[in-house]
Amino acid sequence: MQKYNLDDVKRIFTEDHDEDQSLKNYLDDLLALDYIEDERAIGITKKITNQVPANLNDLSPSQVYVFRDYVMKPYYVESCKFCSMPIPWTEMISALEDGYCAHCRHILEKDE
Ligand SMILES: [Zn+2]
Repeated sequence: MQKYNLDDVKRIFTEDHDEDQSLKNYLDDLLALDYIEDERAIGITKKITNQVPANLNDLSPSQVYVFRDYVMKPYYVESCKFCSMPIPWTEMISALEDGYCAHCRHILEKDE
């Protein structure tokens, strides 16, 4: 995976529209399903989801790096490995398994 700097991480994990809770929902899912193992990363992720909208603006740089290494690296799928479209937060949990967006997964399953 390519290296993300602090600004990249902040940009990606800050929701730009209030009504869309999909980033918060995804991070809540990761917490609820015990994906995140690092104690510091769990605390930081809770802090992010408590913001409205979810964002990293209250984190120190070192907290952002912990989040990047223990949450973003394992649990962020940037784009579908078949069509290269960005994976929406709502589809990220499924994409963790196979790397596909919902559209491509559907097509590939039909081909089998
Ligand atoms: Zn796709």
